[in-house]
Amino acid sequence: MTSTLPSSLPTGSALGSSAVPQAVPAPVSHRIRQRLEQAGVSFLANDNIADHLMDGELDQLEIEVAGKVRDLLRSLVIDIDNDHNTEETAERVARMYLHEVFKGRYHQQPKIASFPNVKKLDEIYTVGPISVRSACSHHLVPILGNCWIGIKPGERVIGLSKFSRVADWVFSRPHIQEEAVMILADEIERLCEPQGLAILVKAQHYCMKWRGVKEPQTSMVNSVVRGDFRHDPSLKAEFFELVKQQESMLLV
Ligand SMILES: [Zn+2]
Repeated sequence: MTSTLPSSLPTGSALGSSAVPQAVPAPVSHRIRQRLEQAGVSFLANDNIADHLMDGELDQLEIEVAGKVRDLLRSLVIDIDNDHNTEETAERVARMYLHEVFKGRYHQQPKIASFPNVKKLDEIYTVGPISVRSACSHHLVPILGNCWIGIKPGERVIGLSKFSRVADWVFSRPHIQEEAVMILADEIERLCEPQGLAILVKAQHYCMKWRGVKEPQTSMVNSVVRGDFRHDPSLKAEFFELVKQQESMLLV
């Protein structure tokens, strides 16, 4: 018995002339990454890349990240097909990273209007505590704490609540605390060009509490002082004194 090829199967010559190789679309993260590289833009964990995302890409990214988290769960040998608790974990984690805990990487800075300092205010003030909710770049586990911002106004002023908004946006990225404070200082300087700026952050790192050395009480405190706060030791001392007063208000 002789076999014949099904008539629908293209012959070699037909395949060569009519079949156009279909390009598999690159994952959206590759396209974004390529764009960033071509523009020479840094996309480290604590950078914001919102200016380089096109319409709809964040939604596509959410689908891609969910797929990778699903793979991660499978690699951790978790039966996501039968475990009702982890069935939709991948989608939840993707949403949480892109729109909540790391939103400061993918979303634009909240709109913050600044106004001319018409009254020429030049007395210092502090705002705080402002919640610090971040994650360490090394383990992606929480960094939680408080931050205080001291301002000696310059040419422009912003509303008090705006400091919380910009801090939340900056901290909502994977960070190391030392860099987070510098980035926040840069953003505040850009927004209101103060004559002096001081920031103090006190935070607990869950990579020390939850894992590693497992020190539940250890916290990290760091600060940055710029402009008049750096040049004038009495102003710097006043800032730390005001922070102490604000902290004591937390205890009552
Ligand atoms: Zn860590």
